[in-house]
Amino acid sequence: MARKNADPKSKTLALMCPNLRCRKILKVPGSARGGSVRCSYCGISLMVPDSNPFSKENIQAAHRQKQVEQEDPA
Ligand SMILES: [Zn+2]
Repeated sequence: MARKNADPKSKTLALMCPNLRCRKILKVPGSARGGSVRCSYCGISLMVPDSNPFSKENIQAAHRQKQVEQEDPA
């Protein structure tokens, strides 16, 4: 129903391979969210989280910006 402007399924995700001997950054299509992909370097399969793990920083940055805006007594 609610259509988002940015379709997350069209976004490419960057995941770090959980294999400590590999730790490659893997680019996986957003359509793989909630599923699993196979690392093309070491062959291990990893879960693709429903949300981008790197978005946490973006959210924190956004909060920080909001707080700065709220400090303005206008
Ligand atoms: Zn790997």
